[in-house]
Amino acid sequence: MKIALFGAEGKVGAALKPVLERAGHEVKPIEIGDDPDVRGLDAAVDFTTPDAAPRNVSAALEQGVSCVVGTTGWDPQPLHELAAVNGLRLFVAPNFSIGAVLMMRFAKQAAVFFPRAEVIELHNEAKKDAPSGTARMTAELIGGDTVVHSVRLPGLVAHQEVIFGGEGQLLTIRHDTTARESFAEGVLLALAKLDSLPPGLTVGLDAVL
Ligand code: NAP
Repeated sequence: MKIALFGAEGKVGAALKPVLERAGHEVKPIEIGDDPDVRGLDAAVDFTTPDAAPRNVSAALEQGVSCVVGTTGWDPQPLHELAAVNGLRLFVAPNFSIGAVLMMRFAKQAAVFFPRAEVIELHNEAKKDAPSGTARMTAELIGGDTVVHSVRLPGLVAHQEVIFGGEGQLLTIRHDTTARESFAEGVLLALAKLDSLPPGLTVGLDAVL
């Protein structure tokens, strides 16, 4: 596929680009200040910032290009209509790491059996939004008023612990992302399945697993 990569020089973008190319995709990097010209490409991938993503995605959709978005901390819902009326896909996942998606699935299963849970998410200090999109989605899956704690420190990549408390027992489910290449597998999967999704917005890697 011919793919635009918004944020190609960012931490995730830089890890993603060679993986996409090794998988046979042709990548057009688009950085801040570049003309977001994506006309004629097969898809646009965005790993930028919560401010930039809505602009990049609107520009791509207006040019007839479906999008796969990893940027967190923004609401893609208002762009559902723009994608749907043009028969395009807008796929957004707060976490493209398959292990993290399984962690969320297991947390949802455990929530049925435990009265309370808290989520601790730990990310690199450069991460702009808190709590993380993954933590918010996990809390939503668990339900109730699940508290989320955010830690931002140098040395961290992306980690999350879900602690369930019950009578005389604790259950901890933990996922660690140690390298940003872990997100590439999910992005490749989303690109491969993009055309099989319904037009409009789809949220979460679960939809393509
Ligand atoms: P980062 O290192 O700050 O990278 C963001 C990149 O986007 C930078 O190169 C930045 O350029 C560029 N950028 C900013 N505005 C742009 C625009 N208008 N057009 C094109 N490029 C633009 O951040 P990151 O760690 O790679 O993370 C990027 C986003 O992905 C964050 O929202 C993060 O939370 C999210 N994320 C999601 C997942 C997932 O699995 N869904 C995983 C990891 C991260 P400058 O440096 O010049 O500003």
